[in-house]
Amino acid sequence: GDTITVRDLTEKIGKSASEIIKKLFLLGNMATINSEIDFDTAQLVCSDFEITLERKQEQTAEAALVAEDFDDAEENLQPRPPVVTIMGHVDHGKTSLLDYIRKSRVTAGEAGGITQHIGAYTVDVDGRKITFLDTPGHEAFTAMRARGTQATDIAVLVVAADDSVMPQTVESINHAKAAEVPVIVAINKMDKPDANPDRVKQDLTQYGLVCEDWGGETICVPVSAVTGQGVDDLLEMILLQADMLQLQANPNRLGKGVIIEAKLDKARGPLATVLLQNGTLHVGDSIIAGLASGKVRALINDKGERVSEAGPSMPVEIMGFDDVPSAGDEMIAVGDDHLSRQVADERREKIKASREATMAKMSMENLFSSI
Ligand code: GDP
Ligand code: MG
Repeated sequence: GDTITVRDLTEKIGKSASEIIKKLFLLGNMATINSEIDFDTAQLVCSDFEITLERKQEQTAEAALVAEDFDDAEENLQPRPPVVTIMGHVDHGKTSLLDYIRKSRVTAGEAGGITQHIGAYTVDVDGRKITFLDTPGHEAFTAMRARGTQATDIAVLVVAADDSVMPQTVESINHAKAAEVPVIVAINKMDKPDANPDRVKQDLTQYGLVCEDWGGETICVPVSAVTGQGVDDLLEMILLQADMLQLQANPNRLGKGVIIEAKLDKARGPLATVLLQNGTLHVGDSIIAGLASGKVRALINDKGERVSEAGPSMPVEIMGFDDVPSAGDEMIAVGDDHLSRQVADERREKIKASREATMAKMSMENLFSSI
């Protein structure tokens, strides 16, 4: 704890024990020279002597990690691709739309290749890139929001034209609003004979989403994940929205990102997919994410290819963690090899300590309730 004995305080501030004990007495604190007083009390006593008492800065590895971080100078920033999450009610076509986009954008050379599932993929549209998060929209939002991370730039809300707004549609809108992420509406299943896009637009107005052609500001694109109708328009609208957001990052710094998926592979050990949010991650970099640390042994992109580096907004699978991090964990590459290990050790210790404190508290409570 954060306590000090009266004796130690005497030495620290050069006042006699009796002077300090007298001040404490006036504060209603019956202390002796051996009493421990907490930081706030010590501060009160000191302020009476017109001495400012400051908490010593803890020299932790975590603090060193934070100190390494910096704001990028404007001139080092470059445009980065948008990161998009697809949300919406079950069966409205999220998976179908993601699949259609992925398949229709595979370039000739890749066509025969194995597309690996790493929880996100990037497509080329008119020479520009868009990254789609392929994790269930809600999970992506809740896991990351709980940790204060925000991986998504734009949410595409899929609403089936034959079913309109449903409970999870509303939930999705609320998630996006809470995260302050702009929403583009994809009115899906337009190929169906009973598709009724006007009803979707009407229903959405109740939730503050008014489509542009209805005089509002929400981009709404009719699509079909089956025929592919409107999908190119949707991609263009995503890029347009991205331009308005002026998304930027500094590719010339150590990589920083968020874990979007992680698992233990029998043969290859812990595997984690990171979405780079800033900087560039290289093979050989020291990394930390949650309680896992290590050195990047290999990077595998969304096409299953080994790559030597990954830049801003790129998803990449990392081999080299000593443990499996959790989705939503922040990943940071550090210049100092020992630092990542130390930070992980510290974090483990901290969890252990708080667990032990909880256990101690519980056994105390048990003790008292049994009296
Ligand atoms: P998710 O639960 O939102 O991921 O929805 P799915 O992508 O699994 O789609 C649910 C069902 O709707 C599947 O049977 C799809 O084949 C079908 N579906 C999805 N998109 C379309 C579409 O644009 N048109 C039609 N006719 N069916 C679709
Ligand atoms: Mg699905």
